[in-house]
Amino acid sequence: MKALCWHGKKDVRYDTVPDPTIEDDRDAIIKVTSCAICGSDLHLFDGFMPGMKRGDILGHEFMGEVMEVGKANKKLKVGDRVVVPFTICCGECDQCRRGNFSVCERSNRNKDVADKVFGHTTAGLFGYTHLTGGYAGGQAEYVRVPYADFAPVKIPDGLSDEQVLFLGDIFPTGWQAAVQCDIEPTDTVAVWGAGPVGQFAIRSAVLLGARQVICIDNLEDRLSMARAGGAITINFDEESVLERLQELTDGKGPEKCIDAVGMEAHVGRSIDSVVDRAKQAVFAESDRPHVLREMMYVCRPGGVLSIPGVYGGLVDKLPFGALMNKGLTVRTGQTHVNRWTDDLLARIESGQIDPSFVITHTAALADGPEMYKVFRDKQDSCIKVVLKPGQTSSHSQARSAQ
Ligand code: NAD
Ligand code: ZN
Ligand code: ZN
Repeated sequence: MKALCWHGKKDVRYDTVPDPTIEDDRDAIIKVTSCAICGSDLHLFDGFMPGMKRGDILGHEFMGEVMEVGKANKKLKVGDRVVVPFTICCGECDQCRRGNFSVCERSNRNKDVADKVFGHTTAGLFGYTHLTGGYAGGQAEYVRVPYADFAPVKIPDGLSDEQVLFLGDIFPTGWQAAVQCDIEPTDTVAVWGAGPVGQFAIRSAVLLGARQVICIDNLEDRLSMARAGGAITINFDEESVLERLQELTDGKGPEKCIDAVGMEAHVGRSIDSVVDRAKQAVFAESDRPHVLREMMYVCRPGGVLSIPGVYGGLVDKLPFGALMNKGLTVRTGQTHVNRWTDDLLARIESGQIDPSFVITHTAALADGPEMYKVFRDKQDSCIKVVLKPGQTSSHSQARSAQ
């Protein structure tokens, strides 16, 4: 079959690889009909996440049709249409029983390594480094889904791939980021990053009843989509983030702050980001925590910092004194996808939200290597790319951001 494979920094290839097969009785094999490139994939593309090997199949946001099921799989049958959460979870361990699916105790095949790096293992993830199990991903024609009798979400007829695909990752990620803020009707929620995760965090914060949602980025097309979703926007190239946030909150600061940027934050000329870039380049620091610093500083005392943005390892010079003395709460994590999917699917079905708003580019899987660059460099107003394994043409179709 064909798949997008990682071959090193900024090197993704459309390779021919062996077809997946059932390895365990609970498995299923899915024929992928749509998959997406996530901001988390960019951390692999840019070479910031350790633990990839040449030839690894990428992709953790995908959906498709069940082709084959293992003997013990009583949930799925051939022909079912499913979205597959990016977190692989057994559904039975202590953490899964608590709904903490992204820290499933069983699904990481390289648990020993993760135990050493993080203190305790986290869940296996599709297409996302050997630290999280080294599982083949879904930017492929077919994919093996382990524990497929638990996590896959069956999709009712009448909904398009574009409406439901993001249930596997960015929609619940934005949603969890907002839920973790415990939003009150008087709250201002500030969201750093107007990428796909930020867009869903904004719409979720609006749905959860925030008084005011503010979004920070420097890309006009993304800020425009954020405004369409109900946010006031700040372009950090043009104005001071801290001053504007103070102004918009009568000098008190936002009660709730969401980091939808993660380890590759950029902020033009600020001293701390220059230092971070230099340290990251020589591996003296793995992540650039500019947004974390800004959030800790500007957040209103007693507030919440919610961090869906991915960090991999060590960060430097966090103003922990501000965090401690202001009594801030930090909530973070890879998304516990299945905790939210029933509710979010119902919201899509009822027409409360149509997640396809975020898609700016649709292309054939074969065009994946090029689309990684387009998404990485935000060319052509790119916000979210959907790839179609079934599509043969190499002519990408783009539609402008809404
Ligand atoms: P993206 O790269 O498309 O978006 C990031 C946005 O942040 C960009 O628009 C960029 O311009 C902006 N940005 C950069 N520096 C900034 C700064 N200093 N201030 C404000 N904005 C800044 O990525 P995405 O798909 O939206 O993902 C965002 C983050 O969420 C990534 O770190 C990704 O790995 C993470 N993520 C986490 C989960 C999870 O389970 N927790 C799931 C999906 C994605
Ligand atoms: Zn992702
Ligand atoms: Zn589990």
